[in-house]
Amino acid sequence: LIYPEMPERSLVVLIGPSGAGKSTIARTWPASQVLSLDALREVVSDDAGDQDATGDAVAALHLLLEARMRRRLFTVVDATNVTRAAREPLVAAAKRHDMLPIAVMVATPGSVCIERQGPRPANRTVPEATVIKQRQDMVDSHRTLKAEGFPEIVFSDSLYRLLPFLERLSG
Ligand code: ATP
Ligand code: MG
Repeated sequence: LIYPEMPERSLVVLIGPSGAGKSTIARTWPASQVLSLDALREVVSDDAGDQDATGDAVAALHLLLEARMRRRLFTVVDATNVTRAAREPLVAAAKRHDMLPIAVMVATPGSVCIERQGPRPANRTVPEATVIKQRQDMVDSHRTLKAEGFPEIVFSDSLYRLLPFLERLSG
């Protein structure tokens, strides 16, 4: 994976369905810079797949994000983030502290996202219908991202190159 060059005062919001490869991309940054909703589900409930723990995990994520934004620290949010409701508090936290929100759309084909559920442990398998819905929500999101407060929208291609940034670096 190519280590993506991004402005230091950024909040990277990964957007994509389960299986798209968000956590794989997130691992290109130092672990301390990544807030993972799955990891926080595990922190609060001992089970990364426990959907009943989502509310508490989101609350923890928002608390940690605020602490990092206040320090102007580069941060990546690893969660599906396919709805405006999920993204709004993230953008708000960035804005409060003059950080740049960057949306990274992980636009892996739906069929690939579904195939990747197969080998996963049972507690981490997302049903096919849910993956399809998440992917459609991501596609529908694209139209509103600018208005939501993301001046930068990046697409990861199948090699996980982050396209506009690489073009800018080489051009
Ligand atoms: P979730 O929302 O469920 O956490 P995710 O978007 O974080 O999903 P990953 O866990 O990063 O998805 O990737 C899903 C699976 O696909 C993993 O097994 C991972 O190893 C594999 N994968 C990710 N990126 C690639 C790639 N570029 N080539 C091949 N396999 C990949
Ligand atoms: Mg993940």
